Amino acid sequence: MATQIAFRAPSPPLRPAGGPAPGVRAARPARPRVSVVIPARNEAECIGTTVDGVADTLASLDLEWEVIVIDDGSTDGTGDAVAGLDPSCHASVLRLSRNFGKEAAITAGLDHASGDVILCMDADGQHPVSLIPQMLERWREGYEMVYAVRTDRATEPHYKRIGTRLFYKLMRSAGEIDIPPDAGDFRWMDRTVVEALRRLPEHNRFMKGLYSWVGFRSIGIPFMPLARTRGHSQFSRLKLAGLAWKGITSFSVLPLRAASVVGAALATLAFAYGTYEFAHHMLYGTDVPGWPTVVVGMMFFSGVQLLFIGILGEYLARVYDEVKGRPTYVVAEWRRAAADDSHDQAQATPREHAQG
Ligand code: UDP
Ligand code: MG
Repeated sequence: MATQIAFRAPSPPLRPAGGPAPGVRAARPARPRVSVVIPARNEAECIGTTVDGVADTLASLDLEWEVIVIDDGSTDGTGDAVAGLDPSCHASVLRLSRNFGKEAAITAGLDHASGDVILCMDADGQHPVSLIPQMLERWREGYEMVYAVRTDRATEPHYKRIGTRLFYKLMRSAGEIDIPPDAGDFRWMDRTVVEALRRLPEHNRFMKGLYSWVGFRSIGIPFMPLARTRGHSQFSRLKLAGLAWKGITSFSVLPLRAASVVGAALATLAFAYGTYEFAHHMLYGTDVPGWPTVVVGMMFFSGVQLLFIGILGEYLARVYDEVKGRPTYVVAEWRRAAADDSHDQAQATPREHAQG
């Protein structure tokens, strides 16, 4: 698929490029091409404002750019809202054939972006564009990934704050990768980072984990998310819990280890109790009462066994999902920006990187 993306003509430079930090690679294009990747599901009401805001900010910097909105199975005309924007925004729409979820939508965006740098941000206006110059500056200093870190969760519901803290604690104790707490998908990535991400073959993608797994010289910058301009969050408690579980099972075997430890502890206890009962029988004869203990013990142990079989099943389901080898997303339409408005219809695109 030949993707000819028209980048907006550069505006006059406003600022000189920052010097590289000591010991950091300096080879950065003087006027990088930036691809802004925006996953959007039912964001028709706010996507225009968001894309306009990004375009205005990028226009004030010494850059070329494109904006790619991934229409993730919207039913409210999000794609048409983007197509109707001013051509100077250089906004393309990549319409997925159905809702595949934010992680898949971001993956689709990274696969179709051609810039030297990729900026990922949400469609609902919660990610302040005022951070973009800082991100550019950091990248010019030599950092390959610049991510925004939420400074305060005071405005979030109680369950979300507790859940998030617990999630990061678990991930840290699993010890396999170091996911920076409170860093989300609002990030600026060098092409080298994106290529590394695209080479990861898994179809079940937990992006926060993958960003950390690929490594690279990364830096966080603090920010406070703005209020949503319109609509409401698409992540219910259940969806968030599902995402956290996906993260834990994709990046650690902690639940399996916990199951082994609890299993071993219970087996030791059972053995000790058996020894005690045997000694008691030998010394004092058989004690007929004790049915409640037996019943409670049986119920408890069968419950624990079922739980652990369930955990094993979760991992097995992940493996099953991967071996099926289905693509992460399917593109229905790729409406390219401005200069040429040709449409490539209905390409069922398996992930290109999955073949390499
Ligand atoms: N999103 C998406 N697919 C989905 C759910 C969400 O592309 O299935 C997009 C959504 O349109 C938004 C971003 O992901 O641009 C973040 O979603 P949301 O604002 O609902 O999440 P929150 O800010 O509450 O974490
Ligand atoms: Mg949001």
